[in-house]
Amino acid sequence: MSDRANLKAAADLIRQAGSVALACHVGPDGDALGSMLAFGLAARDAGKEVAASFGSPYSVPGNLGFLPTELLVPPEDFPAEPELMVVFDAGSAERLAELGSNASKAEKLIVVDHHATNEGFGDVSLIDPSAAATGELVHDLLVELGWEATPEIAQCLLTALVTDTGRFQYASTSPRTLRLAADLVAAGANPSQVSRHVYEQAPFGYLKAAGAALSRAHLERDKGVVSTTITEADLTEAGIGWGDIDNLIDIIRLAAEADVAVLAKLHEDGRVKVSLRSRGDTDVGALAAGMGGGGHRLAAGFTSEEPPEKVLAEVHRRIEGYR
Ligand code: AMP
Ligand code: MN
Ligand code: MN
Repeated sequence: MSDRANLKAAADLIRQAGSVALACHVGPDGDALGSMLAFGLAARDAGKEVAASFGSPYSVPGNLGFLPTELLVPPEDFPAEPELMVVFDAGSAERLAELGSNASKAEKLIVVDHHATNEGFGDVSLIDPSAAATGELVHDLLVELGWEATPEIAQCLLTALVTDTGRFQYASTSPRTLRLAADLVAAGANPSQVSRHVYEQAPFGYLKAAGAALSRAHLERDKGVVSTTITEADLTEAGIGWGDIDNLIDIIRLAAEADVAVLAKLHEDGRVKVSLRSRGDTDVGALAAGMGGGGHRLAAGFTSEEPPEKVLAEVHRRIEGYR
């Protein structure tokens, strides 16, 4: 449960505001986008003026395009000095990219998140690392506000739960997560639509790009690490974009010999975005934090400007320190 006092303080700020500006982390996933849009729809229904966005690149991942995106505005159209800004699923202000500056100029800032590393960077922070998804906390907030979850809102929140729990498979899945999922379905959420869009389909080019990345996968048996790279050229050749490969790490991590899966995404501009997953023995969240990123114990990431070989060698070198 979110801290009751904070929940009440957040609800008071929200009730007083005529407009709310909402942001989630860059490269939004189902929890970030689902949580933000759920809250945005409910705020709109309550008569608030709502703008929602995320930092560049401003592109909704293809498999989340089924969510109601009408409240989204590009980051350049986001209120420069919001009356009230609410931030979802971002462990730190850096995760907002350019919208971090809007957050610092907001009259009031509320942070809703479940990253254990989040130290709270707003006036009111609703942070609960025991929540499987930020969506659980958004639900608590809607209940506190007395705002009803319409079928559309329920669908956004179910998407948040489904994606951050890997379809209710990760250890973070609690009785509360499953009960909330049941309530959301009762409220009109459609689980088969979520899984069809998020997991059961991808552009054909995804198969090609995944094939290229899988053909380069490398297993270090003694360290229990499987790693590979995917390049922007792989994506261009396959006719897809970065937003289409969010599930690729889930194929890499199938290697039973490995506790840790590493996927390095090599961007044309030289940035290397690394996704890390652990089966349980390695704290990849702490590892990623040490590399300037963050995340959860078993799912984390960071971005580097160093050459990819150097970045991967550094990850391999450090892994044993986090077991
Ligand atoms: P991803 O591998 O991009 O799906 O990210 C997995 C988890 O790691 C997410 O829940 C994020 O919270 C976190 N994460 C990924 N990249 C970063 C980053 N650059 N900085 C902080 N946290 C990150
Ligand atoms: Mn997220
Ligand atoms: Mn999350």
